[in-house]
Amino acid sequence: MSDFNNEMMETGLQYKPHEIKEYLDQYIIGQDEAKKILSVAIYNHYKKVFNNSQKNSELEKSNIIIAGNTGCGKTLLVKTIAKMLGVPCYIGNATSITESGYVGDDIESLLVGLLRECDYNVPLAEIGIVFIDEIDKIAKKGAGVSVTRDVSGEGVQQGLLKMVEGSVVGVHPQGGRKHPEQPLMYLDTTNILFIASGAFPGIEDIIKKRLGGTKIGFNVEKNSFDKNDELIKYSTPQDFKTFGMIPEFIGRFPVITHVNELSVDDLKRILTEPKNSLVSQYQKLFELDGCELTFTKDAITEIAKYAYELGVGARGLRNIMETIMNDFMYEIPMKKCKSLKLTKTMVLDKINEKCRYKKIA
Ligand code: ADP
Repeated sequence: MSDFNNEMMETGLQYKPHEIKEYLDQYIIGQDEAKKILSVAIYNHYKKVFNNSQKNSELEKSNIIIAGNTGCGKTLLVKTIAKMLGVPCYIGNATSITESGYVGDDIESLLVGLLRECDYNVPLAEIGIVFIDEIDKIAKKGAGVSVTRDVSGEGVQQGLLKMVEGSVVGVHPQGGRKHPEQPLMYLDTTNILFIASGAFPGIEDIIKKRLGGTKIGFNVEKNSFDKNDELIKYSTPQDFKTFGMIPEFIGRFPVITHVNELSVDDLKRILTEPKNSLVSQYQKLFELDGCELTFTKDAITEIAKYAYELGVGARGLRNIMETIMNDFMYEIPMKKCKSLKLTKTMVLDKINEKCRYKKIA
């Protein structure tokens, strides 16, 4: 490991798990369990990286799986941690990678993406984070749940094994298929942290079946799971295997955590509380036109309720806000208004007029 990386790691190690969590709290609402597990895992990971470089002893790395529905903060958690630590982070997608020889990206494209994130700085990429979204889409066919995919997901899982475990991989910096003549760059993935995420639809049924009539924890009985999203917290590596992830793959991702569904209250808080919340972003935009923008509490509730109705977590919020605000953003500079207060009625009118029947988000 280079002096440069040693320096980076010492900086990274300044952050203790509780400090990482406190940083995450500024940007991400809820998801306390995931935040704690990730903070510890990240702290341990970079501690191992630093330790391995100092003493040449090999501590195995712990890649991470984050399960949970779309739009609940999985990517945001990882991006925010990478930003805090100052390490590059590439957000890739398992559905675009295929076994070599098929049409699609090679597995190595994940590393090319990471290199691009840091301007091809190899030592920096070697301590980066690769986030692989939609990992559930490469589950084995015919496993616990039905998975529709043409190219064998199992082959992609197999292909990823060496890379996620740690090996030296030769990559074509511009992507291999189009420019086969370019020289290879070599990247050691030993200290790259891989974080895989997915919704794993149907895993709740697998967990429910496994738990059967047994009691778990305190007062949690067979028939008390009426809300499916609560079940994910009882998931074990075995459930992911039943889902269709191969044992070797799950074995390389020993840290498993999950994000919860976002409630209307969570969505309200997401609109207003994070450091760069959507509401504060629009307020800044209006301020530049000399207009003070405010929202009544029930206006915020209506936006959150509509996003909840869409069932895409917080993902729909920006789109809804943009649609609601568009006419106002058109008129304000023209009318030179000094203030604008959005009320429940105004929000509902815009939602009904522009969103509800147009399948927004
Ligand atoms: P996914 O779980 O599908 O990876 P993302 O992390 O990409 O979801 O979330 C999409 C967007 O929704 C984020 O960019 C962020 O603006 C918002 N968001 C999602 N969850 C949260 C949360 N818990 N707190 C704050 N914002 C959130």
